[in-house]
Amino acid sequence: MSDQVGGSPVAIVIHGGAGTIARARMTDEMEANIRQVLKESVHAGHRVLTKGGSSTDAVAKAIRVMEDSPLFNAGKGSVFNADGKHEMDASIMEGQDLNAGSVAAVSRIKNPIDLALKVMTDSEHVMLMGAGAEEFARRQKFTMTDPGYFHTDFRWQQLQRIKARETAKQDQDDQWFSTVGAVALDRNGNLAAGTSTGGTSNKRWGRVGDSPIIGAGTYADNNSCAVSATGHGEFFIRYVVAYNICQRVELGMSLAKAADLVVNQILLDANGEGGVIAMDPKGNISMPFNSEGMYRASVNTAGEQSVSIYRDEADPGTTLTGNVDH
Ligand code: ASP
Repeated sequence: MSDQVGGSPVAIVIHGGAGTIARARMTDEMEANIRQVLKESVHAGHRVLTKGGSSTDAVAKAIRVMEDSPLFNAGKGSVFNADGKHEMDASIMEGQDLNAGSVAAVSRIKNPIDLALKVMTDSEHVMLMGAGAEEFARRQKFTMTDPGYFHTDFRWQQLQRIKARETAKQDQDDQWFSTVGAVALDRNGNLAAGTSTGGTSNKRWGRVGDSPIIGAGTYADNNSCAVSATGHGEFFIRYVVAYNICQRVELGMSLAKAADLVVNQILLDANGEGGVIAMDPKGNISMPFNSEGMYRASVNTAGEQSVSIYRDEADPGTTLTGNVDH
């Protein structure tokens, strides 16, 4: 897996969402399946990089693998909104030229990350939403997917539990976010970041979270870093989390310190639950989270791999966070 042949060293980090991920709630089978898809995703993205592909293609590839799995809240496994429907969001950004594309509230696109990419490469806009985004997709010859494709029993049962607790006016404890994202560095030294999600379960009224918002859920700039976020989107929008981290790095803070400060201090103080994956132009990786767990995996510039879920798991080859002096 070493990648020292020609060009700059390559690296990739992915997440499959942060949230209430406790060992007690996980079956062995589910945990093994999740780790397997994380591994497939990070390897698929890494292969693109080692073959000389762009960080943008690596990010899209890694995200597509998780969108196609029913285990993550993106593409196939997306959560239901309050009307029992799916409205998916995705975004992608390139660090070389700040090119970006995003889509919000699409219901008939199998891989929303591909449409976000198309918005970036084939439209004069950055963000398209709803019916307009799907009209653009049709014109770009995307196949319209039957909404039934996105139905999974697991997510349907989750919606029923959330609605029952809402009716009983009980607190929600079922907030598995499971959004997916990826950040990569390619042979040309270019960073890219992308994020894809079904949003939050039981969301209403055309709610859009941070994931498709450039600067909040996704950001990439070769002069600082690339970030993909997961968590309670309303907080990530208010604190412009992805750009917030990159801006601190641009002003001279280390990646580990900037990511940790925003996630474990600023967001935590505001009760904003979640985490990020981040990488700087040298390929340093950081993945802090303030929730119980975060699905995550990486292959660093030395080819060292990690696949982790829980807080107490070490992430070999990444910069340690959580104990940084502020
Ligand atoms: N950030 C996403 C949203 O608020 C949810 C998640 O990360 O799982 O839509």
